[in-house]
Amino acid sequence: MTTFKDIIKYIKKYNNIVIARHLRVDPDALASSLALKSIIQSNYPKKDVYAVGINASKFKYMGVLNKLPENLDNTLLIVLDTPDLKRVDIENFDQFSFTIKIDHHPFVERFCDIEYIDETASSTCEIILDFAYSTKLDINIDAAKLLFQGIVSDTNRFTTINTTYKTFNLVHKLISNTKLDFIPLYNDLYKRPLKEVRIEGYIAQNMTVTENGLGYIKINEDVIKEFGVDAASPGNMINNFNYINEIIVWVFISHDVKNEIYRITMRSRGPVINEIASKYNGGGHALASGARVKTVEEVDNLLKDLDELCKNFRGDELENK
Ligand code: AMP
Repeated sequence: MTTFKDIIKYIKKYNNIVIARHLRVDPDALASSLALKSIIQSNYPKKDVYAVGINASKFKYMGVLNKLPENLDNTLLIVLDTPDLKRVDIENFDQFSFTIKIDHHPFVERFCDIEYIDETASSTCEIILDFAYSTKLDINIDAAKLLFQGIVSDTNRFTTINTTYKTFNLVHKLISNTKLDFIPLYNDLYKRPLKEVRIEGYIAQNMTVTENGLGYIKINEDVIKEFGVDAASPGNMINNFNYINEIIVWVFISHDVKNEIYRITMRSRGPVINEIASKYNGGGHALASGARVKTVEEVDNLLKDLDELCKNFRGDELENK
């Protein structure tokens, strides 16, 4: 089993280090990449460290990613927050001298030389924080901000089931050690334009909710245009539909006409959905998953499977009452 000691050994060994993360970046993936880069650089100023991948303008407050260096000789790659090779946002994966995976997703496949996977961690930022404290690395204030934001975002403000006493302990230590002024950091994460609130209202108004507790909506490009929002906006607000009496599982489906693909994001407040997501070219966590399919039939089949799941979950709930 890979330990933090193994990871620090390889970080010390290599002078060139690249950090990558999953496609369609989210705050945990981005913050963990930039924070790890900053921690390595401040503790080992002579090393060249690059956090790479496509930049997302929505999260530019976190920092800017680097271009992949041309020469990858004697270079260590650390892949964060990504369970399978197809979702790593990097080219030339085969050219690295050594590869390390650090992740909190359920295991999908082994693709790195050593892999540290902690499914019980709330977020990859939590693992990086744990790693830094366990190996006595200094955490600078920029890294502290990023790690706090990544944890808050991936736990949906400490409400998701993988938020544990350990999460709180680590965050407590981070805040007290660095004197982190954390209240202003919520601004970056949660301030948004009115048009996004308006499309959220549209979704609430127009979502279909089945008698079994499945909520779903297909959001086409006309709606995105009408509200003047980014195509990724609806997906970013999916967590706001938790804690609704009538809804157990909820799904947003966006049709990307140009790439001929349906992007699906789904959440659950009970039944495990990632097994169904993986049937439809997707995956993710037990209660937070995503998928991509090519046809409307596949979308309909996915919704049928999820509706059946809700029906069984309701049945079990009633039986256990
Ligand atoms: P999202 O709905 O994009 O916030 O993603 C929720 C979870 O599902 C994250 O852990 C993602 O890594 C995972 N996920 C999203 N889309 C896919 C996909 N197409 N394939 C595999 N996992 C996915």
